[in-house]
Amino acid sequence: MSEAVAETVASRFGELYGAEPHGVWAAPGRVNLIGEHTDYNDGFVMPFALPHTAVAAVARREDGVLRLHSADVEQGVTEFRLDTLSPESDKNWTAYPAGVVWALREAGHAVTGADIHLASTVPSGAGLSSSAALEIVVALALNDLFSLGLRGWQLARLCQRAENVYVGAPVGIMDQTASACCEAGHALFLDTRDLSQKQIPFDLAAEGMRLLVVDTQVKHSHSEGEYGKRRAGCEKGADLLGVDALRDVPYAGLDAALARLGDEEEVRRLVRHIVTENERVERVVSLLESGETRSIGPVLIEGHASLRDDFRISCPELDLVVDTALASGALGSRMTGGGFGGAAIVLAEESDVDAITKSVTEAFAAAGFKTPRVFEAVPSAGARRIR
Ligand code: ADP
Ligand code: MG
Repeated sequence: MSEAVAETVASRFGELYGAEPHGVWAAPGRVNLIGEHTDYNDGFVMPFALPHTAVAAVARREDGVLRLHSADVEQGVTEFRLDTLSPESDKNWTAYPAGVVWALREAGHAVTGADIHLASTVPSGAGLSSSAALEIVVALALNDLFSLGLRGWQLARLCQRAENVYVGAPVGIMDQTASACCEAGHALFLDTRDLSQKQIPFDLAAEGMRLLVVDTQVKHSHSEGEYGKRRAGCEKGADLLGVDALRDVPYAGLDAALARLGDEEEVRRLVRHIVTENERVERVVSLLESGETRSIGPVLIEGHASLRDDFRISCPELDLVVDTALASGALGSRMTGGGFGGAAIVLAEESDVDAITKSVTEAFAAAGFKTPRVFEAVPSAGARRIR
């Protein structure tokens, strides 16, 4: 499979740039099993990689020029001089790969130029991290071609910096780390404070289960502003509680913390979500490690209720997926990603998958919503060279 993809992307590179690429790399999108909005609170997350990847054919250059092309955008080759790259100067898709080059050079790595052709099967803007896949595939290619010797988590940090500073999007560290570090058949238990990680076996097919991703295909326009407000509210909560980050509020101390927040109702809700969500991640890890995979279903359901009622970032489309899936026999379901649209996940017995898919699709039609895109998510490999 990846051999055919590598061939297609390499041959398009040849047409565009008139030469062979020096290699082809792939980096996946991700879906987050549990641990939502915890990554900017120094907390725990548990993503796994999708089979969908961003693929890059790349050749190194020595002349300070960066050329970029994407198969998925109707736009010719865009050329930059490396010494003119500057943060927030580019509102186009090219800011993601150019930002990675900028971040590597800012960190002192001798990247002297590249020709890059990209093609991605990660749905864009669906909360499945097409942006991190794009960044990580470029970072990994340059790491190899310029022999930088950086590890996956280091590439993730640099890509996060590219997205925060160069693109100007205040994202946490989860997406890039997932794309760089996930392993097939596993979910990644990640501590976003120090990036320590543990691969947790997560092979649903072997146990007769499936995990569906339901992409609602909506993105509500206020999502970015609301993300900023949640971040600011979490920071305020940490300040009021005198901790570095909400991660430092122990689950056992939640009631006391909420009491200290007095009548700050909005902040109390945010704090309650983050503290209970960190505990849910730890609970899912211990259930999976003790082989009680079906028992994670109720934890996912609790997580959705917390995002809907306390963090308040769900929307009618996401709630409809969760409610319909559960009414049709799903073991668990929750929204995943930033919220206000994007995707939900559904954990189900293999034998219930068709009925659940049908019910959700019909419920969307009855509500007058856009037809959702439903696909199975098999925990897949992280970023790698494919040619
Ligand atoms: P998500 O990461 O959830 O998919 P983002 O808004 O963070 O959503 O990133 C989506 C953006 O990433 C797109 O608007 C586009 O600029 C860029 N992008 C993603 N995939 C591609 C691609 N294949 N080619 C060019 N740009 C892409
Ligand atoms: Mg993104």
